[in-house]
Amino acid sequence: MMKTEIAVVGAGPAGSTAAEVAARLGAEVTLIDRKAEIGSPVQCGGFLPEAHELRALLPGALLPESLVEIPERIMLHRTGVQRIYSPSGRSKEFPVEGRVIDRRNFDRYLVQRAARAGAEVMVSTRASFTHGLCLSGHFSGPVDAKVVIGADGPSSSIGRGAGMAKRSEVGVCLEYEMVGVDIDPRAAEMYFGTRCAPGGYAWIIPLGPDAANVGVGVRSSYLAGGTKLRELLDHFVRDHPVAGDKLRHGEVVAIMRGLVPAGGISPSILKGNLLLVGDAAGQVMATSGGGIPLAMVGGRIAGEVAAGHIRGGCGLEEYPSRTNDEMGQELENSVRIRRLVDKVMRSDRLMDALLAMIPPEHMKATQRGQVPESLMRVHDLVAKN
Ligand SMILES: Cc1cc2nc3c(=O)[nH]c(=O)nc-3n(C[C@H](O)[C@H](O)[C@H](O)COP(=O)(O)OP(=O)(O)OC[C@H]3O[C@@H](n4cnc5c(N)ncnc54)[C@H](O)[C@@H]3O)c2cc1C
Repeated sequence: MMKTEIAVVGAGPAGSTAAEVAARLGAEVTLIDRKAEIGSPVQCGGFLPEAHELRALLPGALLPESLVEIPERIMLHRTGVQRIYSPSGRSKEFPVEGRVIDRRNFDRYLVQRAARAGAEVMVSTRASFTHGLCLSGHFSGPVDAKVVIGADGPSSSIGRGAGMAKRSEVGVCLEYEMVGVDIDPRAAEMYFGTRCAPGGYAWIIPLGPDAANVGVGVRSSYLAGGTKLRELLDHFVRDHPVAGDKLRHGEVVAIMRGLVPAGGISPSILKGNLLLVGDAAGQVMATSGGGIPLAMVGGRIAGEVAAGHIRGGCGLEEYPSRTNDEMGQELENSVRIRRLVDKVMRSDRLMDALLAMIPPEHMKATQRGQVPESLMRVHDLVAKN
C-alpha cells in the first residue's frame, strides 16, 4: 500500500494550490489527477478580476501569491469594464479591471509550482473513495493517507464516495472559442433573457481584438421542453439582436462544456480526515459562476490546515471555520442575490424592469457579493406583477 501524509485528488486551481501550500509547510504531499495533461481539455472562460478587484470581492481572504502574481506569459488579454445587457438589449456598464488567462497554461503553471514545492504528482491516475482512497490508471492500488483533500471538481466522486451531502443546484455551461468576431475588446459582457439563457446568462469574454470565449450557462431546471444548450448558444451567436451582430461572422475553433455549482458552499466539507475544496465544496460565486479565486483561497486554507494537522496543533475542524471566516459571508450573499433575482428571471419584462432599477454601481456591488438596497425592490416588483 502506498503511504503519504496528504493525498490531494484533482490538480485544478484548488488542488494544486492546496498541494503547493502543504508541501511548502513541510508535509509529504501526493497530488493525483486523472488527466494525462493537466489543464486539458479546458472548461473555463478564463476571466479573473485583477488582484485589487479580488481584494474588494473577498476582503476577509488572504489571496495566495499564485493568484495575485500571474506571469505575463499566461495572460491573454485585459478588460476594463463589465457590461450587462437586459433581455430587451439595453445595457449598463461599470469599471472592472479583468485578466483573461490561458486556463490550460495556468493549471500547468499551478501544478508545476506544487511539484517544485515538493509534491509528488501522479497524472493519468483516477482516484476513488469508499472506505479509503484507491487509485487506478498510471498508478494503482490503495493509498494510506493521514489527510485526503478532495479537489476533484463539481461532480466530486470523492465527496459522493464518502457520502457527503452537496447542494443540488448546478449550472450547465457550453462555450465556444471564436475568432473573427467584431466585439468590444475592453468589455466582458453578460446577457440576460429567457430566449438566450433561461435562469442564467450568456457571456462574451474577449481573448483579443477579434477573438472571444462565448458561452451560455443555465440551470437545468429552467431548460423547458428538452431545449438543448447548443440550440441556446447557436441562437445567441446568430440571432441575438445585439450579440448576433458581433458574433455571427466569426468561426468556432473550440467547444467547451462543463458544470458549475450554483447553490453555495456545501453543507458538509469535512468528514473524518477528508476535506472538500473548490468546486467540489461549492466554493463558487452563485451570481457569476466565477470559481477560480475561491477555489484557490479554499485550496490555500485546506493546505495550511492539513499540514498543520500533520505537524500537530491544528484540528481539521479549523478548515470549515477558517473558510467561513475568509469567504463565508460573500458566498452566502451571492446565493441570496441569486435567489432574489430568480424571482424575476422567468419573465423578460420583469428582468428588464429590475435591471432598469439598479444603478451600475449597485450592479458591481452584487457581483462582489454585497446586497444593495436597490436589489431589495425586487420584492415590490414581484408583488406588483
Ligand atoms: C464553461 C465554464 C466557464 C467558466 N468560466 C469561468 C471564468 O471565466 N472565471 C472563473 O473564475 N471561473 C469560471 N468557471 C468555473 C471554474 O472553471 C471553476 O470554478 C474552477 O475550475 C474550480 O477549480 P477546482 O480546482 O475546484 O476544480 P477543477 O478545475 O474542475 O479541477 C478538478 C480536477 O480534478 C480532476 N479529477 C476529477 N475527478 C477525479 C478523480 N476521480 N481522480 C483524479 N482526478 C480527478 C479533474 O481532472 C480536474 O483536473 C467556468 C466553468 C465552466 C464550466
